[in-house]
Amino acid sequence: MGTEEHVVSRGPCRCGGGEFLYLHYEPDHGWPTKSGYSTDLRITCAACDKKYALTFQDEHVIVVDKTAYLARHQEREARESAWHRKRTKLLKSDAVQARVGEFIARIAALPSAAAMARALRPILHVGGDDTFRRNIRKEGGVGKWLGKGLDPGHLKPILDYLGVSDETIEAEIVEVDRLWQRSKEPLEPLVPNGEPIYWRAHPRDLC
Ligand SMILES: [Zn+2]
Repeated sequence: MGTEEHVVSRGPCRCGGGEFLYLHYEPDHGWPTKSGYSTDLRITCAACDKKYALTFQDEHVIVVDKTAYLARHQEREARESAWHRKRTKLLKSDAVQARVGEFIARIAALPSAAAMARALRPILHVGGDDTFRRNIRKEGGVGKWLGKGLDPGHLKPILDYLGVSDETIEAEIVEVDRLWQRSKEPLEPLVPNGEPIYWRAHPRDLC
């Protein structure tokens, strides 16, 4: 099973020793894939590949300095891991574990799975009563089931259910959310190094 390669755009690299390529791959099997094709941006010159990178920006394929490109990639990863670390730390904190423990005890004490599902439904996705009953049996109890799917977004409703407020936990929830938003914010656009190699608005014909 192979793929068919289409050159969408090609041009000389900056030193002229190779090429900048914008490629599409189409699977040659008959069934559709998620996007139908995949994309590759390639520099076929070792010297230019050290200095430059190709990237999509504002629907163009532009040439950028490699150091700036890599720095941007690292910034994106740093933001994501800052969010992830904070999220994990919060969920594993003694304060959260204690509150979640209280919550689980309260839920587990309810007289039936249907009553548990009713109490949980405003807080997280439970599904129908039968599904819920099956799932908690499969997980070995409502506590284990809850522990598995717990997210910082559930903590405030859990505190509300318990009728308590906890400034420290609530501040941490806000902070986790802020880091999440920040990880999704677009980064500063990269400064193009010279002309784009492809303008989506005026595409060359597919080869
Ligand atoms: Zn070159």
